[in-house]
Amino acid sequence: MNWLCVRCHREFPYKPEKIGIDDFGIYVFCPYCNRRNELINIGKDGRTVLLQTSA
Ligand SMILES: [Zn+2]
Repeated sequence: MNWLCVRCHREFPYKPEKIGIDDFGIYVFCPYCNRRNELINIGKDGRTVLLQTSA
């Protein structure tokens, strides 16, 4: 599973330790351009399933 950066459109690998949460939501930073990529949790029944938004 890879993320696709919304700014530079480069793929980078999924790494759980790189994912952060703050008052604005869930995010992961692109390792190439440092763009903040927003994520949403679409999991149900207590499971966590992260999906990248197009924001
Ligand atoms: Zn990027």
